[in-house]
Amino acid sequence: MGLFERDTEIYRDRDALREDYQPEELVGRDDELATYRTALQPVINGEQPNNVFLYGKTGVGKTAATRYLLTHLEADAAQYDDINLTVVTMNCDGLTSSYQIATRLVNEFRDEGSRISTTGYPRASVYEMLWTELDDCGGTVLVVLDEVDHVEDDSILYQLPRARANDNLSEAKIGIIGISNDFSFREDLSPKVRSSLCEQEIHFPAYDASDLQMILEQRVSVAFHEDVLEPGVIPLCAAYGAKDAGDARQSIDLLMKAGDLARDEDTQTVTEDHVERGRRELERGRIKEGITGLTQHGHLVLYALLTLDLEGEAPVRSRDVRPRYTRFTEMADRDPLVPRRMRDHLSELAMLGIVSVTERNEGRRGGTYREYAIDMDVDLLLDAIEDTVREVGIHQSVKRFLVDDELDHGDTDLSDFAPESR
Ligand code: ADP
Ligand code: MG
Repeated sequence: MGLFERDTEIYRDRDALREDYQPEELVGRDDELATYRTALQPVINGEQPNNVFLYGKTGVGKTAATRYLLTHLEADAAQYDDINLTVVTMNCDGLTSSYQIATRLVNEFRDEGSRISTTGYPRASVYEMLWTELDDCGGTVLVVLDEVDHVEDDSILYQLPRARANDNLSEAKIGIIGISNDFSFREDLSPKVRSSLCEQEIHFPAYDASDLQMILEQRVSVAFHEDVLEPGVIPLCAAYGAKDAGDARQSIDLLMKAGDLARDEDTQTVTEDHVERGRRELERGRIKEGITGLTQHGHLVLYALLTLDLEGEAPVRSRDVRPRYTRFTEMADRDPLVPRRMRDHLSELAMLGIVSVTERNEGRRGGTYREYAIDMDVDLLLDAIEDTVREVGIHQSVKRFLVDDELDHGDTDLSDFAPESR
């Protein structure tokens, strides 16, 4: 027997669960697809295309719907001799300026030898090159700017849709499809950009559990062998997906994690227990990644709040976290940050969903203040800040979580911590 053996008991085609897989049909998006299709109809009629703007949270099918419709549009447009359709798709993640987008677009139309570098040209001349390329291409050109919310200045978002009106283009009929995961992006656009870019707006709402269930069922029939999923698996993945964010990607990822766990265990069935464990693992991964990205002061603040929380002190104000935080920084041989910066770390932890925040009113004097508490599994947090715990030492309150844990073999014991002055 070789070192590697095929294990295909569970999966028929695991790749169908991956991000880059394009489902043949989209389920449960009939209304949005109908509106979207109508917005693209002028292309087939040989008319000037609409500019379309799609928005909705991550994982609600915006990119998938766009790929699906444009694939059909290109195939159907090919049936008409008088339509010459070019589609350029660009993901703006990592592109922050109009200048970068414009140079990328120019290069989309050029072949290897004549591409321009992404720096060094005056912006106006890059736009000139772009108009030339577009007119040379001619016909109908659809430019898809996916995740357009990454672009920080709106020059290109103004220039492209208005290129014809401003006499920059004479041959090409251009249409922009802007896609945004960020609701506020649209609000923040200047009125002149909004009116041209968002001619036709389509909102993709979050999926509910029954939408997700349909999406998962469709995907399962491609990805898994028949009857390997326990009946409760799909509803459970769908329920978690709906509870989290109505994000189809998260539900599919969860299903894949459950499938992988089953496969690793050499079982023939994916069970609800695999889903539960898969969810914990994914959650752990996400939180751990978030915490790992913090500075050590972030970890020290978190450790301080965690111990206070375990002692029943939470929710607690920033100024009451401070004495313990200061103590911990000293134990770790660091200088404490000023109170304001320490509070910024609490806010950051709240943004990561690790810490909960409650706004309180000061009473008659009218001020407000915030109180913080831990909002996450203790084991998981301790695991993520392991290095800091090791440096500071093990506080009495977390001891019981570290029984049998290798951390507990450390020499430092903080049970004899001097009480902090308040
Ligand atoms: P968005 O672009 O809105 O962030 P995506 O289009 O990337 O979301 O969708 C996330 C994942 O969920 C993709 O893998 C996609 O194939 C799948 N998906 C989303 N909506 C549907 C749907 N209606 N039917 C089938 N699969 C879907
Ligand atoms: Mg997308």
